[in-house]
Amino acid sequence: MRIDVVTLFPEFVAQCAAFGVVGRAVERGLLAVHGWNPRDYAEGNYRRVDDRPFGGGPGMVMMIEPLRAALRAARAADPAPARAIYLSPQGAPLTQARVRELAGRERLILLCGRYEGIDERLIAAEVDEEISIGDYVLSGGELPAAVLIDAVARLQEGALNDAESASQDSFEDGLLDCPHYTRPVVHELGRVPEVLLSGNHAAIARWRRAQALRRTWQRRPDLLAKAALTPADRALLDAWREEDGPADGGGPDRPA
Ligand code: SAM
Repeated sequence: MRIDVVTLFPEFVAQCAAFGVVGRAVERGLLAVHGWNPRDYAEGNYRRVDDRPFGGGPGMVMMIEPLRAALRAARAADPAPARAIYLSPQGAPLTQARVRELAGRERLILLCGRYEGIDERLIAAEVDEEISIGDYVLSGGELPAAVLIDAVARLQEGALNDAESASQDSFEDGLLDCPHYTRPVVHELGRVPEVLLSGNHAAIARWRRAQALRRTWQRRPDLLAKAALTPADRALLDAWREEDGPADGGGPDRPA
């Protein structure tokens, strides 16, 4: 997979792609990340990339031409068609399902805004999709781009070692992940649940499923509506609801 990032801070994105699973995916040739700086395509001594907003108001707006030239150079760098994504707080919220779909593509171009954002005409003409990483505002699209790159990198085949398998992570089957424990078995903070030491794989799988279900019910009941639940899952949920009353967006054991 190839990801081109149009950003005023290509070194920042390159650094984010140099560590951990993403760095390993790059080393293994599963992913290539390239930065394109609109300033390199700006004219004049000051290589200006922003200007005042028409209509007045605070802040600056990224100008069309330097961004368009950088985008075009990025597109032309490889013959494979690329989906252009503008990281924006106004985009569709990023979900694991969206990550999985994007991870299967050959090429992405990520467009990072700064200041008040980007001239709307460029977005209308060049952007295929807008993605947000959450309902809050950051000062630039570089962290959101790094988030998206990390999420798609770990889904590239061969990026994760077995021990890091993504298949049981939160959201993969519509539920949150179960809790995890490692050595020591006994610690002043508590004991590892007995079932995990039993060697009974079926019982462990049942326990994990029940834990994942209970966490999801307590912390993110909204996910349950879309999750594929078995009759056994439904029976557990019914029993918990009877015990504790309906989850109210928090549930009885939700941490503060
Ligand atoms: N004026 C814009 C608005 O209110 O929609 C916010 C601009 S923000 C200060 C500058 C840039 O940061 C945006 O162009 C976008 O690329 C990026 N950004 C900020 N928050 C983001 C988020 N939650 N998700 C994705 N990108 C974000």
